[in-house]
Amino acid sequence: MMSELKSIIDKSSNIVFFGGAGVSTESGIPDFRSESGLYKAQQEYGKSPEQIISHSSFMVDPDLFFRYYKGNMIYENAKPNNAHKALAKLENDGKIKAVVTQNIDGLHQRAGSKTVYELHGSVLRNFCLKCGAKYDLGYIMDPENCIDKNNVRTAIPRCEKCGGMVRPDVVLYEETLDDKTVTDAVQAISEADTLIVGGTSLVVYPAAGFLNYFRGENLILINKSETGFDSRANLVIHEPIGEVFSEFL
Ligand code: ZN
Repeated sequence: MMSELKSIIDKSSNIVFFGGAGVSTESGIPDFRSESGLYKAQQEYGKSPEQIISHSSFMVDPDLFFRYYKGNMIYENAKPNNAHKALAKLENDGKIKAVVTQNIDGLHQRAGSKTVYELHGSVLRNFCLKCGAKYDLGYIMDPENCIDKNNVRTAIPRCEKCGGMVRPDVVLYEETLDDKTVTDAVQAISEADTLIVGGTSLVVYPAAGFLNYFRGENLILINKSETGFDSRANLVIHEPIGEVFSEFL
């Protein structure tokens, strides 16, 4: 299997990698949609993650949103794993043309990848809803920046310029993906000779739809468990993705 993967990558010159939550689990970032993530959210908040990190929930109860978000979706000490590192190296070698990711942790860029389409945005970027001022992750995580106009400590980050609410540049449930990011991702996939799909079971929107734009020769799926697309792939590897890519470092 590994020799087949190597030979396909050797022959390819325009590879796109499409990744999901499984790419970051080996960096210690659990999938909040997993069974334990669902259970934890229900236990602590009486709601599902999808309910809490939706646009309407954010508008109605931003304090709840930020408590959940900061406690369950931010992993400031997470580091790129072998999959992130190998993908960055393959881009540097001219093999990989783009990484399309559903993850919001920014680990591909930290590993050195340059062309990364973040379909769901990034926790590293934040902006004021009132004046548009931009903030990094450290700013919104600092409790000193979460004091409201009545001097009450909340979980909601406030803009130091205008006092407006600062939100992450992350696509919430009920919100639409960024047009340009989608267009660029689809174009990269449609031009690729090889598409490697990793760490996603391809059931979460919009993953499956993106695969339909692929017209190239080799579809490779790397996922711990089976996916509905396994029969369409030239090569299927049911192994942890970090282990698979450690061969390419
Ligand atoms: Zn502001």
